[in-house]
Order: sequence, then C-alpha cells, then structure tokens
Amino acid sequence: MKQLHLNKRLKIAIVAHDQRKADMVEWTTFNAETLSKHLLICTGTTGGLIKKAFEEKGVEAEIICMNSGPLGGDAEIAAMVVRHEINLAIFLIDDLNPQPHEADIQMLLRQCRIHNVPIACNRYSADLMITSALWDDETYAPTVPKYVKFSRDE
Ligand code: PGA
Repeated sequence: MKQLHLNKRLKIAIVAHDQRKADMVEWTTFNAETLSKHLLICTGTTGGLIKKAFEEKGVEAEIICMNSGPLGGDAEIAAMVVRHEINLAIFLIDDLNPQPHEADIQMLLRQCRIHNVPIACNRYSADLMITSALWDDETYAPTVPKYVKFSRDE
C-alpha cells in the first residue's frame, strides 16, 4: 500500500487488546514512517510494543504511554478525547473475549462518538483514516453531532 504523508501533525490514540496486539504491531510497523510524523498516545503495553518495534526499525517517533488499559489507560485517553486532545483513535478491540475493563472500553468508544473523533476499530478503517486527504483540507470542517428529535417539518 502506498504511504501518504499528511502535512498536519495529528494526535493519534492507539490501543490494542492482548489478542489484537500482533495485528497492531504489524500495522504500526508497516506505517511507521507515516506515524512517526504524528504524536502517538498509547495505552501502556501497546505503546511499549510499538516503541520497541520502531526502535528495531530505526524509526524515531514521539510515543506517550498512559496506564495499561485494565488499569485506566482507556479512561485516560477517553478524558483526552473529552478535552479535544485527540484527533484520531485506532482501537483494535478483542471482540472474541471478555475484558475486565469493558466499562472503560465503552466509555472510550462513547466519548469518541459524542465528540466526533474518528475511531478505527479495524485495520481497513485505520488505513482509510490515516490516508484521508481531509486532514489537510482547510476548507473542511466536521459537523457537530446533533442530539435532537428528528422532525420532517424543519
Ligand atoms: P494495554 O491496554 O495496551 O496496556 O494492554 C490495552 C487495553 O487493554 O485496553
């Protein structure tokens, strides 16, 4: 896949559950050059693995590690979403196994929806989102989600 370099420096949240970490390391390693232009904010273990993979590849990137997910990392990133400190979230969820921090996972997903933050929960979505030309389009402004009753007459 062709790599596209955006001019805008994004703050990208990156989280992967244990069974999805192999996929995340593969994806971030493949996109290391692109991702190194942005600030990466990760849950603890995911961030540690990405740092190691980037070091092995000789790619320098600014990677911030929050707490591990089950200890509050997702909740910390959700709070950053609320404060509009995250532009994009890549969240590889393990949909086949229960997680001890399900409440925090739902909180992160919910806050991304509420605050209109793009969130990719699979690699295809992640590929589309990190290559979108809209990031650099000064004329594009995301619409604010409406929470109102729909009426045909308006
Ligand atoms: P981890 O957290 O990167 O620290 O494993 C991810 C998660 O389980 O939400």
